[in-house]
Amino acid sequence: MDAIDAEAVIVGAGFSGIGMAIQLRKRGVESILLLERASDVGGIWRDNVYPGCACDIPSMLYSFSFETSTEWTRLFPRQTEIWDYLRTCIDKYDLRKQLRLNHDLTEARYDDATSRWHLRMADGTSLVTRMLILAMGALNRPVVPDIPGLEHFTGERFHSSSWDPAADLRGKNVAVVGTGASGIQIIPEIAPQVKRLTVFQRTPAWVTPRLDRPVSPGERWRRGHLPGYAWLQRRLIYWLLELRGYGFVINPAMLRVTERVVLKFLEKQVADLKLRGKLIPSYRMGCKRVLLSDDYYPTFARDNVELVTEPIAEFREGSIVTKDGRAYPIDAVVFATGFDATDGVGSARIAGRGGAELAQEWKDGMAAYLGTSVAKFPNMFLIIGPNTGLGHNSMIEMMEAQYRFVCAAFDLMERGRLRAIDVKPQAQEEFNARLQERLKRTVWSSGCRSWYLDKSGKNTTLWPGFTYAFRKLTRRPQPEDFELIR
Ligand SMILES: Cc1cc2nc3c(=O)[nH]c(=O)nc-3n(C[C@H](O)[C@H](O)[C@H](O)COP(=O)(O)OP(=O)(O)OC[C@H]3O[C@@H](n4cnc5c(N)ncnc54)[C@H](O)[C@@H]3O)c2cc1C
Repeated sequence: MDAIDAEAVIVGAGFSGIGMAIQLRKRGVESILLLERASDVGGIWRDNVYPGCACDIPSMLYSFSFETSTEWTRLFPRQTEIWDYLRTCIDKYDLRKQLRLNHDLTEARYDDATSRWHLRMADGTSLVTRMLILAMGALNRPVVPDIPGLEHFTGERFHSSSWDPAADLRGKNVAVVGTGASGIQIIPEIAPQVKRLTVFQRTPAWVTPRLDRPVSPGERWRRGHLPGYAWLQRRLIYWLLELRGYGFVINPAMLRVTERVVLKFLEKQVADLKLRGKLIPSYRMGCKRVLLSDDYYPTFARDNVELVTEPIAEFREGSIVTKDGRAYPIDAVVFATGFDATDGVGSARIAGRGGAELAQEWKDGMAAYLGTSVAKFPNMFLIIGPNTGLGHNSMIEMMEAQYRFVCAAFDLMERGRLRAIDVKPQAQEEFNARLQERLKRTVWSSGCRSWYLDKSGKNTTLWPGFTYAFRKLTRRPQPEDFELIR
């Protein structure tokens, strides 16, 4: 039998992978490796350095329940603060020894004879492990629309997730293409610096008040010193956000009431009727991600900002031309056009039992059992796998549920002296049939086109329920749903 380099290899040192490493070590699994293709940890919070990048979930909830920092300086944490938090976790939990930076997994192959996973990196190095945990993230494969003439454009251009901190936009004619979650954070930040900002919008978003504020020293003191204060705050925020899920997954019609409130907010912030008309969404609230901002709408009142809703026809050397023939002189363009969340695990080749290829298994859309296990891929676990995304609450809730599941799978294997466990295809199919049936009744199936859906229109990204329900289902693997490989 091949010697193993680690009991468990976790691929990806973003939020998911870091938390998984901490939990496995807490559970007593010391033999782990945490691989990361970049030269630092942090995942999307390392990469998204665009102006204004921040979280839409209050800091007290967008952090591990077992590591609730009391030091957050704002209600909604900014990118730098979250990235710092993650690096602090690495040091506090002494994970540097397990961390392998610049390790880009290109291939993972399960050996049926030995029940081991053989991993290969881009630089040709290899590793052998018993458990393979993929925490490679869903929102790190940028999408740039295929617009005619882009290759002729001579100005600067970048995607929001690869913002060039050295780029100087001052005094330039800048275009932002896209008005989703990143776009609405970038636009108010750069508008005062640039000469002219042209915002190209395909679909308006539902934008609700953000009400961000600094956390006062007094509050930080209470969080750190009053027993139960921080815990109570976290629970309160959790339940308030969990309530939002009711409209998304149980009764989308109820969202009409919220829509009216949000339209009042728009009315208050945008006086110009023509402009307001362009900003009113024509789909049910929640069908696409609901956004939070206090300064996005007021930015359009600036003299140097223009909202363009006419579709882009082409790029030229120094301009963008819309379908109505109007040319906008542009020196730099920012694509705030999001990510492909439905593309599985990117370019890494994953081969399971009998050489089954994950890309082939997922050719009709990603699917897993509880978003965590995939039939024919024994001892492989996904953190934030298919249908574990949320529209209403913190992703950390889902990750932590999956950590428990993986640790329980470890226990199951140890107790039963198993070599591996493999979810039964039937259990996976039944789970997904129920899940897809449920998704049909949610707001995400109310007719809009969103990044939650794959090319065929199937929702392979979101969890159609409350997070506590997911937590209950993932408490431990049900042995009858798994083939136990001895
Ligand atoms: C701009 C932005 C804002 C967001 N805001 C929120 C929010 O407000 N609330 C919320 O709940 N969620 C938010 N999210 C979702 C966010 O993706 C998750 O909350 C969470 O951070 C994901 O962590 P992750 O570790 O699963 O993925 P990632 O952060 O993507 O980390 C994955 C890591 O795996 C590494 N990796 C990938 N492939 C390989 C490979 N082949 N080999 C080695 N390493 C590899 C990557 O380099 C990366 O470091 C946001 C996402 C973005 C992009």
